[in-house]
Amino acid sequence: MVGLWQAVTLARRGHDVTLHERSAEAFGESCSVYAGAMLAPACEQETAEAVIGMLGRRGVALWRETYPGTIANGTLVVAPSRDRAELDRFARMTKGHQWLPANELAALEPALRDRFTGALYFAEEAHLAPEPALRFLLDRARQDGVRLSLGDGAAPESADLVIDCRGLAAKDDLPDLRGVRGERIIVKSREVILSRPVKLVHPRFPVYVVPWGDGLYMIGATVIESEETGPITLRSALDLLSAAYAVDPAFAEAEIVAQGAGARPAFPDNRPRIIARNGYIYVNGLYRHGFLLAPALAELVADYIETGVKDSEVFGEDRAER
Ligand SMILES: Cc1cc2nc3c(=O)[nH]c(=O)nc-3n(C[C@H](O)[C@H](O)[C@H](O)COP(=O)(O)OP(=O)(O)OC[C@H]3O[C@@H](n4cnc5c(N)ncnc54)[C@H](O)[C@@H]3O)c2cc1C
Repeated sequence: MVGLWQAVTLARRGHDVTLHERSAEAFGESCSVYAGAMLAPACEQETAEAVIGMLGRRGVALWRETYPGTIANGTLVVAPSRDRAELDRFARMTKGHQWLPANELAALEPALRDRFTGALYFAEEAHLAPEPALRFLLDRARQDGVRLSLGDGAAPESADLVIDCRGLAAKDDLPDLRGVRGERIIVKSREVILSRPVKLVHPRFPVYVVPWGDGLYMIGATVIESEETGPITLRSALDLLSAAYAVDPAFAEAEIVAQGAGARPAFPDNRPRIIARNGYIYVNGLYRHGFLLAPALAELVADYIETGVKDSEVFGEDRAER
């Protein structure tokens, strides 16, 4: 996701770009295929720093300008009545929401009728299905003249500048980088009808359901300090599926079509970084926000290349530089 946004942004601004991708199948080995992909800069403020919200709002705007598949229906945050205190805490930690009482919630999202006493509604947020979005950006890159070199993991030799967006594979150059495992399940249902992501606040973990269209729903995601990307555990499956059932019991009849885990690239403070050194610009550590932040970071990198100005606090260092 990060590399594609870099390529598209730079090509549009007239730069001569070659995109090198190690996997022969374009996205085969990426973390990005596991994403939700919620574009939720306001909800993320529950745990993330202000810079994520600021860059995220720009990210949502760029997605909406660029990708027609961006669905701007907002996000709902709900809790079972016994966890109402958690919902109040979520409201205190975030901005940009309105409280919807039960009747307004039912009008907006009829599948949630009679299930919750109300919801927080973040109207400015958006979401998309990740694989079609990745394919769209790849096509857009081709149309804008980007040369593609698939199945090519070698360091480019003749480039004036290399922008390194290798995700977790860049650990060799960025020793602070770590992977944070995120497990998710994809189900298909003809009975569940949701028009926007629904996040279920819970004392142990927040879970969300993202409607991808065509009856597909992504249920995610765990946050585990591990770089394992193998199959998900039974415990995580129970947690994720129970949460989906709590959102709408009609999920009981859904078919499970996929499960799996990606390792999110993250620095120790879970903030993204743009690191420029020795003819390389590393863009990495997008953690839980890769889809949300990639367009805004691509814009910052392009501005820096053209003006030399590091116009954001995400320009930083890693341990190898100090
Ligand atoms: C379960 C889950 C849910 C998520 N949900 C969301 C969400 O709702 N919203 C959101 O914004 N984010 C979400 N994320 C986070 C998001 O997916 C990541 O932040 C993002 O995918 C990171 O993208 P990336 O391009 O940095 O890394 P990657 O997607 O891993 O891409 C790195 C690419 O570099 C390639 N590569 C590696 N080595 C080389 C080499 N030597 N040469 C050439 N190419 C190479 C790899 O093949 C890969 O294609 C989620 C993540 C997970 C796991």
